[in-house]
Amino acid sequence: MSAFRVPQDRIQAVNPCAANPQGDFVLYWMTAYRRLSWNFALDRAVQWALELQKPLVILEALRADYPWASDRFHGFILQGMRENEALSRSTPATYYGYVERASGEGKGLLSALGQRACVVVTDDFPAFFLPSMIEAAARKLSVLLEKVDSNGLLPMNSPGKVFLTAHSFRRYLQQTLRDFLEHRPLENPLDRLPPLHSAPNLENLFHRWPPCTANDLERPDDLASALPIDHRVNACSIRGGSTPARRRLEHFIARHLSRYAQDRNQPDEDVTSGLSPYLHFGHLSAHEIFDAVGRHEAWSLEKLALKATGSRAGWWGMSEGAEAFLDQLVTWRELGFNMCRYTADYDAYESLPAWARETLKRHTSDTRPYVYALEELEQAETHDPLWNAAQTQLVLEGRIHNYLRMLWGKKILHWSRSPQEALQLMIELNNKYALDGRDPNSYTGIFWVLGRYDRPWGPERPVFGKVRYMSSKNTARKIRLEEYLSRYGKT
Ligand SMILES: Cc1cc2nc3c(=O)[nH]c(=O)nc-3n(C[C@H](O)[C@H](O)[C@H](O)COP(=O)(O)OP(=O)(O)OC[C@H]3O[C@@H](n4cnc5c(N)ncnc54)[C@H](O)[C@@H]3O)c2cc1C
Repeated sequence: MSAFRVPQDRIQAVNPCAANPQGDFVLYWMTAYRRLSWNFALDRAVQWALELQKPLVILEALRADYPWASDRFHGFILQGMRENEALSRSTPATYYGYVERASGEGKGLLSALGQRACVVVTDDFPAFFLPSMIEAAARKLSVLLEKVDSNGLLPMNSPGKVFLTAHSFRRYLQQTLRDFLEHRPLENPLDRLPPLHSAPNLENLFHRWPPCTANDLERPDDLASALPIDHRVNACSIRGGSTPARRRLEHFIARHLSRYAQDRNQPDEDVTSGLSPYLHFGHLSAHEIFDAVGRHEAWSLEKLALKATGSRAGWWGMSEGAEAFLDQLVTWRELGFNMCRYTADYDAYESLPAWARETLKRHTSDTRPYVYALEELEQAETHDPLWNAAQTQLVLEGRIHNYLRMLWGKKILHWSRSPQEALQLMIELNNKYALDGRDPNSYTGIFWVLGRYDRPWGPERPVFGKVRYMSSKNTARKIRLEEYLSRYGKT
């Protein structure tokens, strides 16, 4: 194969078929890493194209019928598609952007492309509907389908087991990550392709499944508004795509990284990166973020500590702010990917640790101080102004500051008839409104509220039992909130 290699532990064959060197092209089916750089799956597709001396076709499809599909998420994805379409025009790859105008309209497109492909490469994302969509595709294709993991710094398949605490996962990372940090996806993989003499003729496919043109993508929000998706969840001001993502990353590193350790829990300061939507939709890669932080810190591998203690600070050999940020970006974010990879029922109540289920069960019949229905929560109509402000931010902007997100979840547990109902309410509200929802870390955060990755706490309290308790009163005492409340609070 070519001079660069995608690490083998990131590649997995999903069906038993062989590659077909007689095919017309190599197909990269982009589903989770919606970007043209820093992407091991795209690198793998380029590697195949070079090996087989075939052109590369990139299919970026958007279906209409996934759960919680709305103007908000479609708009964000379409903004990224507009950029990918424009960027790929100056490369030898053929970009095929496809947007379903009616539910199910895209059925058959992948199989039709697959019939002409030498090999199909796709993204290995461990949550939401993506794993089952890829399994279904594998059954239909008669050519090799590979999925490639470009989620984080640690290949998901590497540990071979689930970690139940952040501390044990951090220790594992500190023991093993050094080797993986040397392998990074290419910044510009499409530059490796030779010039294209004649693009694959896809006319008969275009006839049945018309590609989304630059013209269609010119006004992504208008395009979304014409699709059969939920129009009540409106587009928000955060723009999708790799360019806005990089702008945000640069701004964060230049202005906020040095304050991250002290101020990340202060909603009024708003110093966190705001990168989670870009990470979720794959517009930005964890490797690129890590690279940018490392350059800013003049960092090199030699700076890593030799001893793995599992401690939050001190291992990377970077500034306090960078270490605290990487603990979220790498330890906490990849802990969620680890859970989804090794736990089939990661989104089921029964996947909580036994101590949490037991203590919550013992308190199921406790009287709740308030009980709210989904609609009341959704419309931010509780007695608690701080909670209402957090929910308002979620509905308006598709995000909640992390500290208040914890409180937001804890109060839903407090005000629901049962912990099982609280779980369903959190999943519904988070995944319906949060730009970064429907992600492995949606389940990290939501299940953390119920005790996952945590330990029993005393004193035992009504409703919560030994699960960690939070109150709006204590939160308001601990953190500065004036600006936050004036922006999102009800007058
Ligand atoms: C109830 C609840 C629900 C949550 N739902 C989601 C969700 O749907 N999607 C999501 O990505 N995160 C979720 N989180 C985790 C966290 O709130 C967000 O990742 C974070 O607020 C994103 O903001 P940021 O990009 O500015 O983070 P930064 O502080 O800048 O952190 C950098 C990156 O690290 C990761 N990260 C940060 N905090 C956490 C964390 N606690 N757990 C896992 N990864 C983290 C994210 O990828 C984030 O973009 C949830 C937390 C709670 C308590």
